[in-house]
Amino acid sequence: MNQSVDLGEIYRDLHAHPELSLHEVRTAGIVAARLESFGYDVTTGVGGTGVVGVPRNGDGPIVLLRADMDALPVEEKTGLPYASRVRANDPDGNDVPVMHACGHDVHVTCLLGAAQALAADRTGWRGTLFLVFQPAEELGRGAQDMIDDGLYARFGTPSVVLGQHVAPLPAGIIGLRAGPSFAGADTLHVTMYGRGAHGSRPEASIDPVVMAAATVMRLQTVVSREVPAADTAVLTIGSLRAGTKDNIIPDDAELQLSIRSFEPRVRETVMAAVERIVNGEAATAGAPKPPEIRHVTTFPAVVNDTEGVARTQEAFEQEFGAGRIVDPGPVTGSEDVGILAVGVQALVRAARTWLR
Ligand code: ZN
Repeated sequence: MNQSVDLGEIYRDLHAHPELSLHEVRTAGIVAARLESFGYDVTTGVGGTGVVGVPRNGDGPIVLLRADMDALPVEEKTGLPYASRVRANDPDGNDVPVMHACGHDVHVTCLLGAAQALAADRTGWRGTLFLVFQPAEELGRGAQDMIDDGLYARFGTPSVVLGQHVAPLPAGIIGLRAGPSFAGADTLHVTMYGRGAHGSRPEASIDPVVMAAATVMRLQTVVSREVPAADTAVLTIGSLRAGTKDNIIPDDAELQLSIRSFEPRVRETVMAAVERIVNGEAATAGAPKPPEIRHVTTFPAVVNDTEGVARTQEAFEQEFGAGRIVDPGPVTGSEDVGILAVGVQALVRAARTWLR
């Protein structure tokens, strides 16, 4: 079988047919069919659309390999012959374009390739492969959904969790890093309440647009004035919505925040500052009621195990040459793969309390 041609086809097909988080039905079907064609037993519907294969090959460790399957509500403008033209409804019912803009199509293809290569050569390894194709990474919940659906109770507890992510590095270069590697991320949705009025009589209003604008500007001081220079944090306000018409002052305004950090104490500093500033600006404006702050998603930081990275580095250097492996430094992007390892740590800790 010509592996590269086959994998290229799988990749282009996945790329042309992206699916939003929690809707990875077609992708999961392709994954399951391919794994079965390699001779693996497959379980589908794990934590939603998750797919698991756990081929055993004698005694040995359980090694978990993970790929995420979901795409993003982004319009593809690459002009590629296999570009996505897919549209779908987002969770709010809006019609949105869909694209594999985060490269999860690459991850699925790579893991299928690894599964195929390991199936073809069963003399070169022993132990248990734990193949995990995960839904809803972009929502920060797919890994947790699979654990909650009994991932480890049903299929065993892995010795190591190996994840992957494409990144804007030169082609052929692999980034690998011990310790804090991907930032933790928190999404906050903030609603600020004012009092609507006709636009010709602003004195009758408590203007939530001005309140939100002041809040946006003040929030820029959190990272620049409150986080020490040696620490890393990012605070982005990606969405600011209020009102429907030029001459109507609306009743409320909504801000959507994305916060990144590596250290729990930095995260706490930023979260506390956001709460203080949002409440403070509302109070300053004379808001009729305090803002509502909803914590929508949380990704823990990915902190790679030092020994696991050292073993992986050695293997990569043998396979690809030392010059191709770089430490990219901490990345402020986020990943929920760490939850799979935290889930293992939690099981080990729980087991130890009984095994004393
Ligand atoms: Zn991603």
